[in-house]
Amino acid sequence: MLTRQNFSNKLTTWFQAKRAHLPVPGRGDSNPYAIWVAEVMLQQTQVTTVWPYYENWMEKYPSISSLAVADQDQVLKSWEGLGYYSRARNLHRGAQYVTDTFNGKLPETVPELLKIPGVGTYTAAAIASLAFGIPEPLIDGNVLRVYSRVTRLTADIGLSKTKATITSELAQLINPEQPAEFNQGLMDLGRVICTPRNPDCESCPLKKICLSARTEDVESFPVKEKRKPLPHYHIVIGLIQKGDYFLIQKRPVNGLLGGLWEFPGGKIERGEKSEAALLREIKEETGLDVDLGKKIGTINHAYTHFKITMSAWFCDWIAGEAQTNASSENKWIHFSDMNTYAFPKANLKILELISPPT
Ligand code: SF4
Repeated sequence: MLTRQNFSNKLTTWFQAKRAHLPVPGRGDSNPYAIWVAEVMLQQTQVTTVWPYYENWMEKYPSISSLAVADQDQVLKSWEGLGYYSRARNLHRGAQYVTDTFNGKLPETVPELLKIPGVGTYTAAAIASLAFGIPEPLIDGNVLRVYSRVTRLTADIGLSKTKATITSELAQLINPEQPAEFNQGLMDLGRVICTPRNPDCESCPLKKICLSARTEDVESFPVKEKRKPLPHYHIVIGLIQKGDYFLIQKRPVNGLLGGLWEFPGGKIERGEKSEAALLREIKEETGLDVDLGKKIGTINHAYTHFKITMSAWFCDWIAGEAQTNASSENKWIHFSDMNTYAFPKANLKILELISPPT
């Protein structure tokens, strides 16, 4: 049976001995804002990917008030390539809310933290435990894996009721004096020792109490129902040129990839040829008449809920004023200014295929 004594103490002692070798953005920082930024960036994203974004962000927006007054385009540009852009928009809105409601200082209780736009259970628990020492368990993929292996949990960890059960069990086990060390220890143990493949059980501080290590079926846990294959869409886009300028469109703020800029285009419909689909999409989205030029190339990209194959062409403007039928804003910009706007990753991959016009 797991107890605070045999679970929490072993974990906390292990973490204290190893923490210097396990650097993670924001962790060990006493600045609650730094912890907030880092924990949002770390959701669904590897530590090594987050580091340069985190350092750049803290240099650009060193305080909640500096983020609150920043321009949204600049905020999204700072997040470009990190994915899940709603996180950046929410941090920005959250900073404005904290500035207006809490005088620029993060509140110190979970119910108040949960009032901040974009702050969900995980982020509130992270700020509460890591910044303010409140014993709130933190549940991420690493924690779910470790805990389900230690307990040989046969319930599906993808279900919210399983997560709720694990949260309440960990609330009994968390070290009330050192909640930050407990939470970080559990997450780091999952990241560096109890890895998805080939966990290093010999080096693990929980080996003696781990049920799946004892029964030697570690990799049967966690149990997770297989997801359906992701839908795959074929997309065409056009880099429409008018003189020295190209048309970019801003996606509506509240949708997928909201607030990012992109080139006009869309999905190929069943039975439709790529070129015909592009001319149709450009007409529908912008109202422009264009001539199709040279094909730029094709890329593949996977988002969380779907995959795309995207092909792009240069197009020459013939006639018409650009409309905002599917966007919130249009701009004609010089090619050399592309890097001042935030684009979705798939558009960036297309831009990488182009040699800048001379
Ligand atoms: S003993 Fe092995 S399976 Fe159990 S928690 Fe440690 S690393 Fe994971």
